[in-house]
Amino acid sequence: MTPTGLPMEAGTTAEREVLISGAGISGPALAYWLHRAGFAVTVAERASAPRGGGYPIDIRGTAVEVVRRMGLLPRLRDAHITSRRCAFLDADGGEIASLAPHVVAGGVEGRDLEVRRGDLAEALHAVVRDDVEFLFDDYAETLDQSGRGVDVTFHSGRQRTFDLVIGADGAHSRTRRSLFGPEERFHRYFGYCFAIFTMPNTFGLSREVVMWNSPGRAAALYAVGDSEELHAFLNFHQPEPPPHVFGDPDAQRDLVATAFADAGWEVPGMVEAMREADDLFFDAVGQIRLPRWSSGRVALVGDAAYAPSFLTGQGSSLALVGAYALANALATHRDHATAFAAYESGVRDFVTMNQALAGDGAATLFPTTARELEQRNTRLRGLVAMPSPQARPAHSALTLPEFASTS
Ligand SMILES: Cc1cc2nc3c(=O)[nH]c(=O)nc-3n(C[C@H](O)[C@H](O)[C@H](O)COP(=O)(O)OP(=O)(O)OC[C@H]3O[C@@H](n4cnc5c(N)ncnc54)[C@H](O)[C@@H]3O)c2cc1C
Repeated sequence: MTPTGLPMEAGTTAEREVLISGAGISGPALAYWLHRAGFAVTVAERASAPRGGGYPIDIRGTAVEVVRRMGLLPRLRDAHITSRRCAFLDADGGEIASLAPHVVAGGVEGRDLEVRRGDLAEALHAVVRDDVEFLFDDYAETLDQSGRGVDVTFHSGRQRTFDLVIGADGAHSRTRRSLFGPEERFHRYFGYCFAIFTMPNTFGLSREVVMWNSPGRAAALYAVGDSEELHAFLNFHQPEPPPHVFGDPDAQRDLVATAFADAGWEVPGMVEAMREADDLFFDAVGQIRLPRWSSGRVALVGDAAYAPSFLTGQGSSLALVGAYALANALATHRDHATAFAAYESGVRDFVTMNQALAGDGAATLFPTTARELEQRNTRLRGLVAMPSPQARPAHSALTLPEFASTS
């Protein structure tokens, strides 16, 4: 029954139960909007709490509107990072060029946001944690769609049935694997691997990014404000993906250390710090490209469906916009198949445009030969005197509809 005492009409969403796998960026954003549309939402997260860590991330264009509609703009503006410069160094640590950060990142000053990934994850969790059920330290082990809903058996042994399940479980999504098969079919590898971790700021860096390059390798230190901690980043060319290291942090550390064995500048100290770091995030650089984002009562959102790679700087923005669009489609269409189709047709072009931005990123940041690196450096020197670049049309290529339900 509805609060008015009348039987529920088709088209309302009350009591529909949804499981969201993953409490990263897309998961809590989707939970917020589905709760607002009247769904009963459970979020299962493999980790024991929302995961902090990671490099600062960008929220741009259409995605800024999503966080504005969630009431998060003031909090995220407070968390916004303003840096003085982005300096590029040669193999010996000599400065090649020092640029305004937005010239490199391509954001719009005064509109777009750059925040620590952990600050965004925390803000999204905070805005929804009292309204939906969070199950930490657990994940869906099996999904069975043979009955009237999705029967879920969790790793912990608990068993529940949901009307819908949404995989928001990141680029290496288990939900995607259970729907469509192994990741290799959908992962487009770009030929690099990277490691991100924090380390002490023993260099006196302040409000700046410093990036060292040699052919096929990049090492960057990012000082957010005057923090005593630096975000460190090591990226290297690796012709084939190294499947043996995924899920094995020690093997990841060895692989990175080998790739940077003879590197100059501050890299040996960075490699040493990586060995000690307890927040190492290692991954291959690549994109997820899927022909469909749903099957039956299960759909995917964010990196699980369309990870664009950090080369685009758009992973979190696509996750936020995708979450809004999926929730809006489910709030609009009672039939889940119609809703999933509407979500996909509404967002796919936006995703494709943003995934295409990866093409420029690798050439600027990680040239693999000495000749390409010299050409890149010449371009960078030319950029020093250039005015701010235009905003990238892809960032704002989608206009958000009003949200269908405000219940
Ligand atoms: C710790 C961390 C650090 C990151 N650092 C960077 C970075 O430096 N640069 C960058 O470009 N991108 C980074 N990313 C990825 C970035 O967050 C995403 O590109 C983007 O924000 C899209 O968000 P998402 O919610 O779709 O995926 P993610 O942010 O990856 O979130 C997925 C969530 O699902 C959880 N999870 C995984 N498997 C399961 C499962 N089977 N069941 C339940 N939960 C599961 C994960 O623990 C995670 O919390 C990082 C992700 C994480 C988790």
